[in-house]
Amino acid sequence: MAEPGRRVALIHSEEDTPETPERARMVTALITSLGLMPRLACEAAPRASAAELTRYHSREYVALLEELDRDDDDSASGEVDERALERHGLEFDAAAFPGVWAHATTIVGGSLRAAELLAKGESDVAIHWQGGRHHATAERAAGFCFANDVVLAALRLLATFRVVVIIDIDIHHGDGAEDAFRHSPNVLTASLHLREPGFFPGSGALSECGHGRGKHSTVNVPLRRGLSPATFARAFAHVAGMCRGWIGDRSSAVVMVCGADGIRGDPRGGWRLEPASLADAVGVVLDWRLPTLLLGGGGYVQTNAARAWALCTMRALQLPPADGAAQIPPDDEFYERYRDGSFLLHAVAERAGALGLACARADDNSGSHAEQNDDAYLEGVLSTLRARFASLSASPPPAACASRVTLAGVKRRPEGEGHSDKAHVVRPTLT
Ligand SMILES: [Zn+2]
Repeated sequence: MAEPGRRVALIHSEEDTPETPERARMVTALITSLGLMPRLACEAAPRASAAELTRYHSREYVALLEELDRDDDDSASGEVDERALERHGLEFDAAAFPGVWAHATTIVGGSLRAAELLAKGESDVAIHWQGGRHHATAERAAGFCFANDVVLAALRLLATFRVVVIIDIDIHHGDGAEDAFRHSPNVLTASLHLREPGFFPGSGALSECGHGRGKHSTVNVPLRRGLSPATFARAFAHVAGMCRGWIGDRSSAVVMVCGADGIRGDPRGGWRLEPASLADAVGVVLDWRLPTLLLGGGGYVQTNAARAWALCTMRALQLPPADGAAQIPPDDEFYERYRDGSFLLHAVAERAGALGLACARADDNSGSHAEQNDDAYLEGVLSTLRARFASLSASPPPAACASRVTLAGVKRRPEGEGHSDKAHVVRPTLT
């Protein structure tokens, strides 16, 4: 039974990556066909301004993004400096495209609007499935993320709440948010991700735990290939419990990046999660009853992402969980696409290669993999994290006003690390 009074907002747009051109429309269509819209406060994502982007991104980078769009209109005078594109990561998997400025500002605008609803107390949960662009840094695009709406939304929340927790379950490390907040004692970033040689972005080691006053408020949970729903649930429950303990009774908000590329068969993935795995994780966090922003992220089998985020939306609304036989409503705009999973809401698409994605490439990660996260490995990771949290509890971080948080402490990614390594960048990576 729905809890009276839980107010859930859905901010939406049609913005997405060229590799998932219909995903945004598909998730909105599924939420609609499942009859959820009347229960949601639904708004179209507004565009953010250049000034709003520069609350995190550098003026030079924001001006370049805007200039690229003017070039597309044929109204600009000159050519954009190729070296500037390279310097700001606007190449390979983050090459600019016509409309990139509208794309970036709409994604940021949607997440800022969602954060605003939480900060003003107008919503208890705010959802923006087109958000979650967690790889962009202050100066650079990466992994098809041009502006980091996760960071900008967290900064907005910090103006109201004393602490913010960012929990990222996209299969790729949430490196952009970590970059922004690794010196901040007021933002805890926790990322559960696949980490192995050659897998983008290459960061997120267990040993990376923050710096200075932010020491131990960066949590990395590197996991191996083949992660099963049960192992994920176990790891997530432990990490979430640590995050909740860190918050304590302080004024707080939560940002959750719910990338769906950890679902079995994702061509950019390597885990074996199910759509319900994401909804269950969301349910754990929502049980805290804190203001919560739910964002999307990666997810390159569009039907799987739509299924997962629709289930997450149902969880936010505290609707009874749909049983395993629940069907995609036949009047769904994209109904035929769900044939990939026998039209079942909980299914994982079979034969992702039939969906038009380039699954036959040499770096295809979509094959099935045995669980490589055995008990000994997982317990080793979790025991290290438990020891760190114990030290945090012994000396809680000092309060700081939002204006002092993070920006002065942004640490730039050293050249040659992560995205700036072209050997990594040319791999299909994305959010
Ligand atoms: Zn991802």
